[in-house]
Amino acid sequence: MAQVTCSFCGRNKKDVDLMVSGISAHICNFCIEQAFQILGEEDKTKKEGKKPKFKLKKPKELTAYLDQYVIGQQEAKKVLTVAVYNHYKRLGQKQDDDDVRIEKSNIIMVGDTGTGKTYLAKTLAKTLEVPFCIADATVLTEAGYVGEDVESILTRLLQAADYNVEAAERGIVYIDELDKIARKSDNPSITRDVSGEGVQQAMLKLLEGTSVNVPPQGGRKHPDQKMISVNTENILFICGGAFDGIARHIAGRLNTQPLGFSKKANADLIDRNNLLQYVTAQDLKAFGLIPELIGRLPVLTHLDPLDKDSLKLILTEPKNALTRQYVKLLAMENVALTFEASGIDFIVEKAVEFNLGARGLRSICEAIITDAMYEFPSEEGEHTLVINEEYARTQFEKSKFKKLQVA
Ligand code: ADP
Repeated sequence: MAQVTCSFCGRNKKDVDLMVSGISAHICNFCIEQAFQILGEEDKTKKEGKKPKFKLKKPKELTAYLDQYVIGQQEAKKVLTVAVYNHYKRLGQKQDDDDVRIEKSNIIMVGDTGTGKTYLAKTLAKTLEVPFCIADATVLTEAGYVGEDVESILTRLLQAADYNVEAAERGIVYIDELDKIARKSDNPSITRDVSGEGVQQAMLKLLEGTSVNVPPQGGRKHPDQKMISVNTENILFICGGAFDGIARHIAGRLNTQPLGFSKKANADLIDRNNLLQYVTAQDLKAFGLIPELIGRLPVLTHLDPLDKDSLKLILTEPKNALTRQYVKLLAMENVALTFEASGIDFIVEKAVEFNLGARGLRSICEAIITDAMYEFPSEEGEHTLVINEEYARTQFEKSKFKKLQVA
């Protein structure tokens, strides 16, 4: 008689405790045990995949994390962290326990360029365990026109979620430059406002909550791809924009002028250097956002302009502050780099002069330090480099910035 062996591992019957026989195969107790374990693990991952695992971080915890990277902007931090916290809570909400359904509150942030809108969203994303993506409103056009359809935003979110639709459906999307899709003028002209009101209209259903057919590869380059249906009901949208010129609307509304003096008694109470803090939905409407869109972005917050002190802090304080990055880069070349206060002041002054917000700090630093980063790697031994006003000014004068300044 032929020897009975396990059809899975090949063990002989005499080497195992138990051999179960089927019609034309056998399985030993070891293989049964292993198969059982595999089953259990499969089951567990399936369940975990279904039930989102949330580590509920409280608004203050989230803010403390943001504070390590983003200077100031306390109001925006508060509004964002509360919204994100509530978003988590909403997702964990048991259904049918009563009639109260917590609705999501999409957010709109108004703030000058380079004040940290994108940076806040990015930093927040790092702490979140939900899929997150950043989209740019400027590339969006109405369906059928050259550019991207609004659905492409969800393609990114799907990609961020590794195509796990359920995860994407509870994600967070940051839409930058929302102001760029403002209506260009009040009278519809002969040429259609392809990238303005039409896009706003197209965004409505996305923000509100609906099932959208999303091209998984994005764009229109793959016309044959199978669409994936994504429900946006639980996706939190955070929009940002500089809304250049909105200060004038605000000032007008407050019956004061952005610059100059007002005879009104209460005008003294108005901080004219930071008019954005008084922004209301009404101002957004005057700027060219359609009321329906504003209605779907019920939480409105602003970012403060960055003054010299904030810029100085941004340059030196955060965990990955620019000065720290340059010190680290040059340390790799055996160069001990230090920034003197006069050097820092010079950089900050130039950033203010060029009116680029914190974004200018980076390019100004590059202009000043590039020569050193070019020369030192080819040199032997240890070196020191001190960035004081004199060094900064000399390097700056040589750079392309100088040309910009003259122009
Ligand atoms: P925007 O408001 O135009 O979206 P960004 O968030 O892109 O501006 O800011 C540009 C860069 O400037 C950021 O990557 C970051 O390095 C720096 N920055 C801006 N604001 C702050 C801030 N409040 N704190 C720290 N860094 C900031």
